[in-house]
Amino acid sequence: MKLSQYPLKTYKDTPAEAELTSHRLMLRSGLIKKLASGLFTWMPLGLKVLKKIENIVRKEMDATGALEILMPAIQPSNLWEETGRWDEYGNLLLKMSDRHNRLFCFGPTHEEVITDIVRGELNTYKQLPVNFYQIQTKFRDEIRPRFGVMRARDFLMKDSYSFHLDQSSLDEEYKKIGHAYDNIFMQLGLNYRKVRADSGEIGGSTSHEYHVLAESGEDKIGYCDEEDFAANVETIKGETAPGGGELSFARGIEVGHIFQLGDKYSKSMKCSVLDSTGKSANLMMGCYGIGISRIVAASIEQNHDKSGIIWPKEIAPFEIIIIAITKKDDEIVLLKSNQIYNDFIKLGYEIALDDRSERAGVKFAEAELIGIPFQIIVSERGLKNNTIELVERGKDGNQDISIDAIKSYFENK
Ligand code: ATP
Ligand code: MG
Repeated sequence: MKLSQYPLKTYKDTPAEAELTSHRLMLRSGLIKKLASGLFTWMPLGLKVLKKIENIVRKEMDATGALEILMPAIQPSNLWEETGRWDEYGNLLLKMSDRHNRLFCFGPTHEEVITDIVRGELNTYKQLPVNFYQIQTKFRDEIRPRFGVMRARDFLMKDSYSFHLDQSSLDEEYKKIGHAYDNIFMQLGLNYRKVRADSGEIGGSTSHEYHVLAESGEDKIGYCDEEDFAANVETIKGETAPGGGELSFARGIEVGHIFQLGDKYSKSMKCSVLDSTGKSANLMMGCYGIGISRIVAASIEQNHDKSGIIWPKEIAPFEIIIIAITKKDDEIVLLKSNQIYNDFIKLGYEIALDDRSERAGVKFAEAELIGIPFQIIVSERGLKNNTIELVERGKDGNQDISIDAIKSYFENK
């Protein structure tokens, strides 16, 4: 992308309503734009980050054997009446009616819809176990939308639902998805912790959450490393860890949540198959969520400095930005910058070129604010020695590198 052809700008001023660093930086760098309370548009740079996270999640879910589907965002009330959640779910559920006065909700989660699909499609134990997942927009009418996309009303979630004949098959899948989540959060470069959790609204027994550790987190985690114990404090009854060890505390942002639902939904919705003896058996279920859009904000909470965002390269909107230090009449700097840009594009890099006629200071400040991991600075002075300057975001000092060596420098990264 050439910035001369990018119509959007960044903002110097801190938006008044943004209390959290990630929210401020996302608005200032133009990753998102607010439409109304808890509703945000993902602008081009923000969407690139969101898609990268989505793709890492998709790749790891596919590797577990889970099958991707896409369910409607709008759901009919009758399914929610079967499970009793039409009334129980409360005000988070946005209800609406169509032209025939039939009632619907905007899905905050999809247990009812997937259970309806499975009871219609599956009839024998031979089709089990199975895990369906989707990456889709959810709506929850949060009482206090805040912190930008961290607690929005419309947000992107990966939700998956597994179905089993017995508990041991559910245990196995629960473990497998737990490992996949570890792979996902490690690849995203997050400092996170898996903790025991309350299963809350959704119901069921065993449940774990994945928390990105950050001072600004809404949740409190208690842990004891000697006992390898960590839990959301909502679930901790006593003053100590289960073995009597002393608890330490940290704050976390919930980015993932896995549950064993047991037969809660399959019972109320009569979702069963024939087992090997020909008897009808209610299915056991697991469900597994990841807050994809929340991860964008959580990552910024962990990766920033006073100048802006510092993206891990796995999810940066661009890996590299070329900053052309242009003064009047120095065609050669633009020419060389374009050449490097085209070379890197051919090699498959995601690269931006700041070819605007802005002051160097403005270009540096914006590259830092947006958080691109590497800056290649092309200037008349450098070109005289056939070099460019390389700056790594978040690290001190520049390196002069010969123009002929930059490609191999990145190949070896
Ligand atoms: P929270 O406790 O933060 O309200 P939850 O426990 O109600 O979340 P789950 O039902 O577990 O949420 O949903 C799965 C994931 O979706 C959560 O772990 C979180 O990352 C994300 N998520 C939930 N609510 C929101 C929201 N309002 N905005 C952005 N992401 C959200
Ligand atoms: Mg949760």
